[in-house]
Amino acid sequence: MTREEYALALLRSCYGYDSFRGQQWSIINHTLDGGDSIVLMPTGGGKSICYQIPGLMSDNGFAIVISPLLALMNDQIDALQQNGVPARALNSEKNESENRQTLDLLMQGKVKLLYISPEKLLSEIDRWSNVITDRICLFAVDEAHCISQWGHDFRPEYTQLGTLKQRYPHIPVMALTATADRITRDDIATQLHIPDARLFISSFDRPNISLNVVQGSSGRQKFRQIVQFINLHRDESGIIYCLRRKDTEKMASELTRLGIKAEPFHAAMSVSEKRRVQRDFINDDLKVVCATIAFGMGIDKSNVRYVIHSNMPRNIESYYQEIGRAGRDGLPADAVLFYNYGDMVTLQHFAQESGQVEVNLEKLRRMQQFAESGVCRRRILLSYFNERFDHDCGNCDICDNPPERFDGTQLAQMALSAIVRTNEQVGMYTLTDILRGSNKAELVENGYDRLKTFGVGHDLSNAEWNAYLLQMLQMGLFEFAYDENNHLKITELGNDVLYGRQLIELNRFKRNTFTAKKEPEDTPIIPEAPVAAKEMDKILFDKLKDLRKAIAQASHIAPYMVFSDKSLTAMATEKPTTQAEFGILYGVGKVKCQKYWRPFTAAIRDYLDTK
Ligand code: ADP
Ligand code: ZN
Repeated sequence: MTREEYALALLRSCYGYDSFRGQQWSIINHTLDGGDSIVLMPTGGGKSICYQIPGLMSDNGFAIVISPLLALMNDQIDALQQNGVPARALNSEKNESENRQTLDLLMQGKVKLLYISPEKLLSEIDRWSNVITDRICLFAVDEAHCISQWGHDFRPEYTQLGTLKQRYPHIPVMALTATADRITRDDIATQLHIPDARLFISSFDRPNISLNVVQGSSGRQKFRQIVQFINLHRDESGIIYCLRRKDTEKMASELTRLGIKAEPFHAAMSVSEKRRVQRDFINDDLKVVCATIAFGMGIDKSNVRYVIHSNMPRNIESYYQEIGRAGRDGLPADAVLFYNYGDMVTLQHFAQESGQVEVNLEKLRRMQQFAESGVCRRRILLSYFNERFDHDCGNCDICDNPPERFDGTQLAQMALSAIVRTNEQVGMYTLTDILRGSNKAELVENGYDRLKTFGVGHDLSNAEWNAYLLQMLQMGLFEFAYDENNHLKITELGNDVLYGRQLIELNRFKRNTFTAKKEPEDTPIIPEAPVAAKEMDKILFDKLKDLRKAIAQASHIAPYMVFSDKSLTAMATEKPTTQAEFGILYGVGKVKCQKYWRPFTAAIRDYLDTK
C-alpha cells in the first residue's frame, strides 16, 4: 500500500470521508517528508485533518497539538474518541493522576494525538524522558496567529514556542491559522524559527454561506426583521452578534418574550454561565445565542445555520471570522448583516479612540464599502483577502437581486442644501427629521421648521433616507465631524453636487422582508458526488435528528459528535437498511458504524415500513 493509500484508508475508517479536501494531502505529505509548513485555511476549511492524519500514521509516535483554547481542546478530543482515535489532553483542568496516566500511555505508544496548551508544553517537555520526546512526530501550532502582536488575538505564552524548533530541529512544525494577512504570516515564520516553511494557502471562499446585507433599518424595525428571519429558521441554530453587552441581553430577553428561546453571551458573564450557554447551544437545547464577539472562539459546532450581525463589525477580518462559524458542515447557511448610520457613528468613535487610528479607520471604510457594495459581495470579500475571484457568486443578495441605479442628484441636493442652511450644525438624524418635516420640539426650538428645505423629502421613509444618506456618506459628499457631535460637513465633492457640477447615482432602496426560500433540494448533498440526485426525506431527517439527540443524551456527548447534520442528510437521502450500506455514508467511520448502525438502520426501516 502506498503512503497515500494508507492515509486514505485512515480517512475512511476513522472519519468516514472518501477523499482529501483541497490541499490536505499535499500538506500531510510534506509533513511526512519532514517539512515545516504554514497552513492558511478559512474556518471550517478542514485544518484538523492536516495534523491528525500524520499523528495517526506514525507507528509508535504521536503528534503534539498546541491550542490556546481549553474548551475547544476538550471538544476535539471527545469527537476524536467517538471516532476511536486515541487522543488525550494535558492541561490545567486535568488532575495529577490523569496526567500521569496520559504520560504512561505516551510511553507505551498508545496515544496518537496529544493536545496541550503552550505554557503546559513548555513546562512539561523538559521533564519528559527521551522515550517520549523521541516519539514526537509533529508540533502542530493551532491558532498560530496568536503568536503575532499584530494579530487580533495575541497571547504572550505563544511567543515562547520558538524554542521548540531550536531544541528539536528534526521534528516538523505545522502552524495553522485562519488569519491571512502577510504581516501575521511573516511573524509566525520568524517567531517559530521556520524560515523555510512551505506556505499552503487555501481559498477563503465559503460558497455555502449566502451573504446578505440589510441597509438602513434600526430599532424596532430591525428587531422585527430579525424575528421574521428567525421564524423562518425555527428549528435551526443561529448566532446573533451585537456590539455591546447590554444589546445582547436586550435582544435575548425580547426574543424569549416572543417565544424564541435565546440567551445572551458576553465577556462579563461568569465562567460557569458561559459554559452552560455553550453546552446548551452545542447540544441543540438552545437555538439562538445573542453574543458579543467573544462567542464562537471556543466552540466547534458544525450545524450553525445562520449568523446575524445586528450591528456592523469593525472590520472585514472580524466579519469574515464571525460568519465563518456558520455552515461548517458545508450545508447551506445564511449570513445577514444589518447596517445603519448609528453603527457607523459608534464604530468611528471606537476607531478614533483606538491605538491605531488610521489603520482602524481604513479598515472600517473597507467594511463600509462591503456593506454599500453594488457588485457581488463575495467578490469584494475575496479581493480584500487578495484572492482572485473572477465571476459573480450567485449566492449573495446582490447577485440574487441586483440593485437598480437611479439619478440621485436631486435627493443629494436636498440633503446638502439642508446641511448648508443649518450652517453644518446637524447630525444625520436631525437632518432626516428636517427633510421629512418632523414636528419634533427640537426642530422648532432651533427654527429648523422655517428652513426652505423643511419637509422637502417627506415622501421617503426614515429607513430610505438612512440608506441614501449612508450611500452619500460613502461616496464622500459629506463627512461627520467626530469631535463636533457628529455634525455633517460638506466636502468639495459635495459642493460640486450641490451646485450641479456633478451628477450622482444611487442604488434604489430595497425593503427587506425575509420570505421562505425554496427548499434547498437543488443543492447537492455531497458536492463531490453528483450522483446524489435522490431527494432527502425531511420527515425522516427529523426522526433521525431525534434519535441522534436521544443517543447523545444517554452517552453525555453533544449531538454533532454522534453524527453531523451532513451525515444525517446522507442517511435521510440514501435510506440505508443494512450495516454495509450504512458504513459507506459520509462521516460514518469504522467505530461509528459498529456503534450506531443498528439504531439508525432500525429507525430507517421502521420509517419505510410505516410509509
Ligand atoms: P477548521 O479547523 O479548519 O475550522 P475542521 O477541521 O473543523 O475545520 O473541519 C471542518 C469540517 O469539515 C469538519 O466537520 C470536518 O470533519 C470536515 N472535513 C474536513 N476534512 C474533510 C474531508 N476531507 N472530507 C470531508 N469532510 C471533511
Ligand atoms: Zn454574489
